[in-house]
Amino acid sequence: MTIALYPGSFDPITKGHMDIAVRAASIFDRVIIGVYDRPNKQLLFNAEERVNLAKVAVEKYPNIEVCSYDILTVAFAKAIGAKVIVRGLRMGSDFEKEFEMAMMNKKIDSEIEFICFMSSLRYQFLSSSLLKEVTILSGSSCQDLVPENVAVALNDKFARIRDSWQNGK
Ligand code: ADP
Repeated sequence: MTIALYPGSFDPITKGHMDIAVRAASIFDRVIIGVYDRPNKQLLFNAEERVNLAKVAVEKYPNIEVCSYDILTVAFAKAIGAKVIVRGLRMGSDFEKEFEMAMMNKKIDSEIEFICFMSSLRYQFLSSSLLKEVTILSGSSCQDLVPENVAVALNDKFARIRDSWQNGK
């Protein structure tokens, strides 16, 4: 059985992430979406929220699971028996970062392979960070780029943030 780990921040999971996970799940026996607990970036959702959003989003796919982790990605891959780490590549922006990360991880554990899936055309320009920026400024205009449960969670979170801005004024 080949297990693939798909690690990331998933803050929150988008249809671009799901597209990669579902395509990986058609090749590997099991795909584990690994939600990294403390990425070096400012987060909107905490780890538990990010895991729960991803779990609901992929619940209809029997061979995709979600869990969080807080150790080195290759160490986590090893711990769950994953031989492959899956990542997504969008045009231009991702290649250097992914290549650098793959080389460093290969140095730490040469037995784990990195496989990058090319992003589908319709999700090439979708990122969680841009999505959050646009949603806070324009409400629900990007709802079709995320699963339904994520759209609800984003609206809820930003409604609260907007309220706190107004109350703070
Ligand atoms: P990280 O902080 O590790 O980059 P992300 O949640 O931003 O975590 O992304 C996780 C993985 O998913 C990365 O490999 C990223 O390139 C990929 N990814 C993000 N958005 C898309 C998308 N729209 N299409 C394909 N891959 C994507």
